[in-house]
Amino acid sequence: MAGWKTLDQMELAGKRVLIRVDINVPLENGRVSDATRIERIVPTVQDVLDRGGHPMLLAHFGRPKGKVVLDMSLRVVLPALEQALGRSVVLVETLEGAENLTDEARAADVLLLENIRFHPGEEANDPDFAARLAGLGDIYCNDAFSAAHRAHASTEGLAHHLPSCAGRLMQAELEALERALGTPQRPVVAVVGGAKVSTKLALLSNLVTRVDRLVIGGGMANTFLAAQGLGVGKSLCEHDMAEMARTIMAQAGAAGCEILLPADIVVARAFEMGAPHEVVPAHACPDDALILDAGPASIARICAAFDIARTLIWNGPLGAFEIPPFDKATRATAAHAAALSRAGQLISVAGGGDTVSALNQAGAAADFTYVSTAGGAFLEWMEGKPLPGVAALRGT
Ligand code: AMP
Repeated sequence: MAGWKTLDQMELAGKRVLIRVDINVPLENGRVSDATRIERIVPTVQDVLDRGGHPMLLAHFGRPKGKVVLDMSLRVVLPALEQALGRSVVLVETLEGAENLTDEARAADVLLLENIRFHPGEEANDPDFAARLAGLGDIYCNDAFSAAHRAHASTEGLAHHLPSCAGRLMQAELEALERALGTPQRPVVAVVGGAKVSTKLALLSNLVTRVDRLVIGGGMANTFLAAQGLGVGKSLCEHDMAEMARTIMAQAGAAGCEILLPADIVVARAFEMGAPHEVVPAHACPDDALILDAGPASIARICAAFDIARTLIWNGPLGAFEIPPFDKATRATAAHAAALSRAGQLISVAGGGDTVSALNQAGAAADFTYVSTAGGAFLEWMEGKPLPGVAALRGT
């Protein structure tokens, strides 16, 4: 993809490199409970260090809304960060401190600036604040794709002040996304599942014009079934979205995109793990039942669609995957996509919300070509929206 630079094109020796990272990790009892986000920034920081650069990490933590909130200090991530990097990291608590580094800070391998959202200028993308941040470095490297849908000083503004590039994680995300929706190998199949149509309208409207087949699953499939006049019993269903669902189906028809809705469904009387259940055709949902998963015939159709595809893009589970046995369709189809990917027949890109945990649970994530941990930014990209953080890198 043209227009933005990678670390390969930057001269790093002796340079102060401001690296925007996403280390907004979950905590349990005051300790990092999942260090995945921290581990994923290692290649970029390592690369900068190996080439003689001096990294200063910029990151947010929680939502302090422009004020110093001690509970949201990045100090809590220091041990996990030092362990992942195998280097000493010093927390610099204030901008003044960053402008007048202590000897201890100068001696550290890596500097971490305290929660960037403690400053009101961050989320306001205040140009003066961005200019002041820019004074702390010689190069700006954005490695936080997951924050690229926000136009903040450290995700967007800085790119207007310093020579800029994408970090390794940002680069991997952008290359994977470009392969899946930019210039994909066809046919392209998309899977969109999850709870509600209302949260994924923009995404569905964009996808029907870009992909050859669209599998709709999960709770949102119920809305589409209902919009076709089928009974969905007591299932999760947005009846007020029926018109919208019909519009999306019409858009798909006009664009030559085939929509695959469940042909058979797994129904139960309770939204509970192990609830007694049965498989019925999609047009035969009992009035007192809930649709909680796609049935075996649907699974076979989805797998057959994967067999003839070259590219797969996936967001959202096909059923209530947290409560077995209603995880079957998600597991079976994810395993099939993983096998095709492993065999080199399919480029598979997944991300957003619950998708990562669903694929992890299915044991399929490792074999997907790329699993994005970016959440909101991944979804906005699937919606076809320009991401300010990426656009700013292009402009420099
Ligand atoms: P989302 O965050 O929109 O991707 O939705 C994910 C959630 O949708 C998960 O918690 C699933 O349990 C839920 N879900 C998927 N299928 C169904 C269904 N048929 N009925 C109720 N909830 C569902």
